Amino acid sequence: MVDTISIKGYKEEKIVTKFLENMDIITDEATYSTLNLLNDIFKKMGYKTIFDLETSTLTVVKNNKYYSVRVGLTGVNQEQAKAVEMGSHTLALLNRITKKVYDGFIYVDRGYFSDEAKEYAKNSERITLIDRKQLFQLMSKYYENVSMGDYYKSIEVLENCRRAECNGKMIYTLQVEKLNTIKVSDTYMHCLDCGMKFFNKDNYKIVSDN
Ligand SMILES: [Zn+2]
Repeated sequence: MVDTISIKGYKEEKIVTKFLENMDIITDEATYSTLNLLNDIFKKMGYKTIFDLETSTLTVVKNNKYYSVRVGLTGVNQEQAKAVEMGSHTLALLNRITKKVYDGFIYVDRGYFSDEAKEYAKNSERITLIDRKQLFQLMSKYYENVSMGDYYKSIEVLENCRRAECNGKMIYTLQVEKLNTIKVSDTYMHCLDCGMKFFNKDNYKIVSDN
């Protein structure tokens, strides 16, 4: 009995460790370790999962509904920015290609989503988004060794939010509309708590307040 528990604990720790090791790089190993983590998390959430190692595809099933789990590797840790925001372009594409086979899809990104992408997902019953913060929230819920402190450590917070009433932390953010298309000019400071955005790090002009 004790053996079973310790083996399970060891296996779980390995799944999380592998994910964290590969979290901010773009490789096949990173895709695999992210899908492997999600496979484990969705099982814990009560889904039936189908993880095909050959094709690196993960399908999760609940109430007879089939969802394709897709992993975005935009991630963070670029030279100029610590966070990358995903636009709606990829979501629109995935919506089309998953429509015939799946009831919906879950798009998981190690970075973040643009307001436009979030809006796009909100207007579709087929799309669920999970960003870096939500991924850490899930991990800290289902794994004893992970806390939200690990999330904040993983993004190298640069400075406090400049908004007087907010105690949030700001990080550099980079917005991308298409996978592998990064325009460095789209960099801004972004508060993770209040969502305030400051374009041009030298100027801190307030451009959004939501
Ligand atoms: Zn703030």
